[in-house]
Amino acid sequence: MIRFEFDSRSENEAMARVVIAAYLLREDPTLEEMADIKTAVSEAVTNAIIHGYEDTIGRIVMEADIKDHCLSISITDFGKGIEDVEKAMEPLFTTKPDKERVGMGFAFMEAFMDELYVESEVNKGTKVIMKKRVNQWSKEN
Ligand code: ATP
Ligand code: MG
Repeated sequence: MIRFEFDSRSENEAMARVVIAAYLLREDPTLEEMADIKTAVSEAVTNAIIHGYEDTIGRIVMEADIKDHCLSISITDFGKGIEDVEKAMEPLFTTKPDKERVGMGFAFMEAFMDELYVESEVNKGTKVIMKKRVNQWSKEN
C-alpha cells in the first residue's frame, strides 16, 4: 500500500501520474492498462485541484493498493465537496462550462476503470475510489 500526499498545484498532477505508474510496474501491466489508469488518476486529481480547491491550495491524498492483481486507488481532497454526486457523475455535466471543461472526467474514470465510487460531503471534501484488474491474462495463463 502506498500513500502520496501533495499540494493541489497543477504541476503535481503529473507527479501523481508518475507515482501510480511506478507503483503499477510490479504487475507488468499492458501499455493500455497503464494509459487507462494514468488517465483516470489524472482526471480525479485535476478535479480535486480545480473543483475541490478552486483558487485555494489544499492537500490531496492518493492511496493505492494491489491485491490479487486488482489495483485500488483513492484520491481524496478536503475541499468544497459535491452537492449532488449522482448528477455530477452524469456525462457532460459540469459546473465550470466557462473554463473549457466538458464534464467528461467522471465518464472517463468510469470507462477506463472497472469500478468507480464517489463519496463527498459539502465543505468537507471528496473521495474518489477506483478499482481495476490488471494484466489478468498473463498472470493466470
Ligand atoms: P472535465 O473533467 O471534462 O474537464 P469537469 O471536471 O467539469 O470537466 P467531471 O470531471 O465529470 O467534469 O466532474 C463533474 C463535476 O463534478 C464538476 O464540474 C464539479 O462540479 C464536480 N466535481 C468533480 N470533482 C470534484 C471535487 N473533487 N470537488 C468538488 N467538485 C467536484
Ligand atoms: Mg473533471
